[in-house]
Amino acid sequence: MTLEEQLFFVKAFLPEAWDYLQTKNDMRLPEFDDNDEVVSWWRTSTKIPNKTQIRRRISVMGIDIKETDLSFNSLSERSYTDMVVIHHTGCNDIDASAEEIHGWHLNNGWAGIGYHYVIRKDGTIERGRPEWAIGSHAYGENSHTIGIHLSGDFEQAEPTDEQLDRCGALVADICERYGIPIDREHIVGHGELMATSCPGVNLQALLDDGTITGKAVFYYNQNQGIEDESAVPAEQDGGNQGGRGTERFNNIDALPDWAKPTIQKMIDKGLLNGNGESLDLSLDMLRMFVVNDRAGLY
Ligand SMILES: [Zn+2]
Repeated sequence: MTLEEQLFFVKAFLPEAWDYLQTKNDMRLPEFDDNDEVVSWWRTSTKIPNKTQIRRRISVMGIDIKETDLSFNSLSERSYTDMVVIHHTGCNDIDASAEEIHGWHLNNGWAGIGYHYVIRKDGTIERGRPEWAIGSHAYGENSHTIGIHLSGDFEQAEPTDEQLDRCGALVADICERYGIPIDREHIVGHGELMATSCPGVNLQALLDDGTITGKAVFYYNQNQGIEDESAVPAEQDGGNQGGRGTERFNNIDALPDWAKPTIQKMIDKGLLNGNGESLDLSLDMLRMFVVNDRAGLY
């Protein structure tokens, strides 16, 4: 696609993103006519998924997913998603990759890897089966669920902090996109759906004590610009979540995504230093500005 076609696509399917682009002073956006016949083709063509489906497939929280470009035999589209199922590798505490698991599952005679995501021990999230496709990870429950696999055997070992952190962020992103509540009815271990020891006692315990849903709520709130101190996982307090306490943000690029539109707007209106450098803002100040912005102050 050319840049103009991509922008056209954004306008047709991602109205919030289009609105955001229009707030960027340094971008000259082409004019598109809403009554144009190509626009109406985009909107009505049966060859492309509908607007909601496309929007659901794009990470709203900027989660880093490592693409694996695996080839699958026939896949079918999942029409409904209301649950996330957590798995482990089992048997051996190995750091299985999406590609390795893909090989195992092809050997089972399946279309390819049955999980949608694989979280390695270092926290890397690898793409498994495309998220829109029906998985093969929870017998009888695949038609409405997304499967996340954490590599390791959690009957004996513990998941790494990086795995748990990325699992929380990924669950938050999925729940935001599909409108799934972040609770224990909708975020489950494989063994809660059928008789299996997956995802292992140690990982299941972290579901049962609210660790995983707590991390997901933390990331969800962070994305919404709402901080819920009680939802901050203990080991992250003062850690790499950045800015708790003393950190100052000095330029627009360093800001968390949830704060950028507000701060950019304030710069554009001359309320803050016009060149966006040496802003010297704390996280608390960012929160206050975002809340004020929502209240219509700027
Ligand atoms: Zn499982």
